[in-house]
Amino acid sequence: MEEQEKSVCRKCHSEFGISPSRARFAAEKNFFCPPLYCESCFAELLKQLWEVPGERRHVVCAGCGKDTRLHFVPNQEKPAYCGECYQEILKRADDS
Ligand SMILES: [Zn+2]
Ligand SMILES: [Zn+2]
Repeated sequence: MEEQEKSVCRKCHSEFGISPSRARFAAEKNFFCPPLYCESCFAELLKQLWEVPGERRHVVCAGCGKDTRLHFVPNQEKPAYCGECYQEILKRADDS
């Protein structure tokens, strides 16, 4: 079994392991690298981003190219994804 990289979640402060495939995937995609939150907090965060009502900004999803709306201004250096693509990315990161 591959050694897991450890990190401390910024939200719940629990230590969590970053699977090598997730770390590699994040590095390749410049996507939450290194992951700042444990998987359950990250899932919670994702939910909030798309479900909380309020003003949203239009961005073009880097995954599917569709127009999507986010609650935050995306960091210029990191691609922004719509909810569906985030889910897809997380799924693939876990599979590989
Ligand atoms: Zn957490
Ligand atoms: Zn998308």
